[in-house]
Amino acid sequence: MSTFEQSRTCCDCESQETRKLEKLQAAFVQHTNWEQPCGGCGGNQFSTISLPMPNLDQEIMEAWIDDENLNLMDQDEDIILASKENLELLKAYVVRDDAFTEKRQMMLSALCVLIYESDESEDAQTLEDAIKFLRNNRHLFEEIGDGAIFGYIKEVVYPQVGLDVPDE
Ligand SMILES: [Zn+2]
Repeated sequence: MSTFEQSRTCCDCESQETRKLEKLQAAFVQHTNWEQPCGGCGGNQFSTISLPMPNLDQEIMEAWIDDENLNLMDQDEDIILASKENLELLKAYVVRDDAFTEKRQMMLSALCVLIYESDESEDAQTLEDAIKFLRNNRHLFEEIGDGAIFGYIKEVVYPQVGLDVPDE
């Protein structure tokens, strides 16, 4: 099983500490808080805290959709989710009606962000795939709600997936 190394540097004594986290710890902000004071001087201020983010996979997605209080990021989770590597996961999980609504809204927003940010010349396949998926699943916007999607994203993406841009 892969582990992820988190490191931090104390502001007071400059000692550096590292610890290993399992994938499902490293994936969620709630599990990466490093509460213990510095082992060198007992200080509580750290200048750099680094942690590589695991690539999203089914195991992480299952845990995420199943717990309202778990977050991939403190904010803007849709930005993290919106990469072409995650397209298949997003398509599979946004339709899951056992997932928390807020998580589904975040995935729906991520799909829109992905379309918004995709470059037609470089990501043509991703773009086409994502647009086709949302076209065929337009009911999701009503079913889940589009509260997580920014207006400027709607303006660009909605016409492409066959939805009217709402008056804001
Ligand atoms: Zn210290």
